[in-house]
Amino acid sequence: MDERSQIRKLKKEIEHLQQLAYKDELTNLYNRRGFKEGTEKFLSELVWAKKHPDHRKSIFIKNFSIILFDIDDFKKINDSFGHQTGDSVLSRIGATMLENVRDIDLAGRWGGEEIILGLVGASEEDAFRMADRIREHIAKEKLQLDGETVNFTVSGGVASFDKADGFDDLFSHADKALYEAKNRGKNKVFKYSDIG
Ligand code: GH3
Ligand code: MG
Ligand code: MG
Repeated sequence: MDERSQIRKLKKEIEHLQQLAYKDELTNLYNRRGFKEGTEKFLSELVWAKKHPDHRKSIFIKNFSIILFDIDDFKKINDSFGHQTGDSVLSRIGATMLENVRDIDLAGRWGGEEIILGLVGASEEDAFRMADRIREHIAKEKLQLDGETVNFTVSGGVASFDKADGFDDLFSHADKALYEAKNRGKNKVFKYSDIG
């Protein structure tokens, strides 16, 4: 093997390792680490801008919002149709998320059945509209498996960086909004500013 093809082979291996380290296999979304690292790149700039208001104009991103989605009654889906069907639902929802975000945005699997989107430049209202559109879209989807029809819905919580002082704060706002959506009957989206 010549030097060039050796380098190419190494690059492929590195990409594969990055894929393993940053992506979730089932949904093809970022895993938690990948999502956090991607998000921090945008947030660090916004945090800096908050501390230096005079230089604000030089910052190309004006805001950053997240949507935290959680599949509704997912345990019931597993219990009624089996874990494998649950996996198919997760993977379908992951694909829908990817189809609905722009290239610049980030889509990650936060945990078991929680999906998180990071929307670059989006205000809370922008993110809310998008979240509700995705929620509606998912509620209309179904999976046909072994002659059975599986329906599923998600709930979402939306929060924006302009009301937070870092990632953890932003996340806890979205989580509180999500909790409200679950409490008010699921298949709903709430914004943090509505519950604050
Ligand atoms: P809620 O509407 O309140 O969110 O109810 P829920 O049933 O979705 O929530 P709960 O936290 O009670 O259960 C989550 C379930 O998600 C339990 C767990 O087994 C399942 N789960 C987590 N990760 C996976 C996965 O990768 N595949 C499958 N099939 N199930 C998973
Ligand atoms: Mg959950
Ligand atoms: Mg759930």
